[in-house]
Amino acid sequence: MTAYDPDNIFGKILKGEIPSHTVYEDDDTLAFMDVMPQSRGHTLVIPKTGSRNLFDAEPQVLADLIQKTQRVAKAVMTAMDADGLRVAQFNEAPAGQTVFHLHFHIIPMYEGVPLRP
Ligand code: 5GP
Repeated sequence: MTAYDPDNIFGKILKGEIPSHTVYEDDDTLAFMDVMPQSRGHTLVIPKTGSRNLFDAEPQVLADLIQKTQRVAKAVMTAMDADGLRVAQFNEAPAGQTVFHLHFHIIPMYEGVPLRP
């Protein structure tokens, strides 16, 4: 599999080279608003260590990331007053991955409101 490239967009966000709207941050994790949200409050959660996707992530990084995703998902659900919430994660281009730094999508859902494409 292709190696992790630290010059991907999220790597640049982590280095402060591209601006983002932070939702949550700690020593290991950053959560920020998606620039092309599929719904109101669409948030991305990423580890600060470099992993391309699920396949090369260290188990400890993954375990920590899913716990942080749960924490952020609960906060987004409440803050956005959403009716439901999707968590999504894609691996490699054929599966829809476009940014090659491991991330979870947090996508709040609203009764009767379809997702943006
Ligand atoms: P993927 O398809 O790789 O799972 O999702 C990548 C996500 O990153 C997409 O939802 C896309 O809108 C988002 N994205 C791409 N470029 C940027 C950017 O420069 N800033 C932010 N905040 N999100 C981005």
